[in-house]
Amino acid sequence: MSEQPATPQEPSAQYLAFARTRFDAKISPQESGCIEWIAGRDRWGYGTMWFNRKHRGAHTMSWFFNHNAFPVKGKILLHSCDNPKCVNVQHLREGTHQDNSNDKVSRGRQAFLKGEKNGQSKLKRYQVDEIRAKINNMDLPITIAALAREYKVGEQTIRDIVQNRTWVV
Ligand SMILES: [Zn+2]
Repeated sequence: MSEQPATPQEPSAQYLAFARTRFDAKISPQESGCIEWIAGRDRWGYGTMWFNRKHRGAHTMSWFFNHNAFPVKGKILLHSCDNPKCVNVQHLREGTHQDNSNDKVSRGRQAFLKGEKNGQSKLKRYQVDEIRAKINNMDLPITIAALAREYKVGEQTIRDIVQNRTWVV
């Protein structure tokens, strides 16, 4: 049985241009300075976009189009505006999972969202973000089983998150 290649093929220039056009059609600048994603979002409010055979965060795609690269290994994207719909690259910075937790503590943000409140999930929103970030990071080899162990949830829960099943609004 052959394994899937760890890294999907590099998208062509034509595909990138097409993806950028789709991206640009789905954003709306706000008076606040945020540029909000107006297409599909996950249950945590983050925009999602299908790119190169994967679901990607819209803010991650914004980073990609502006930097010609995804966030560096081990880093995740943090919103300075705390607006998950926002794809304004000026409002995004690379940080660590620890930064992300610190941000939330310092803001005193009680991010109780559907998944946390209704008991469907033992995972917090930021953990779901982390899981997606880890899976999306091509340079970080990680397995579903390892993530399930790390977050103390079933492998199916991880698969559902990765495939945007459980968590899509
Ligand atoms: Zn913003």
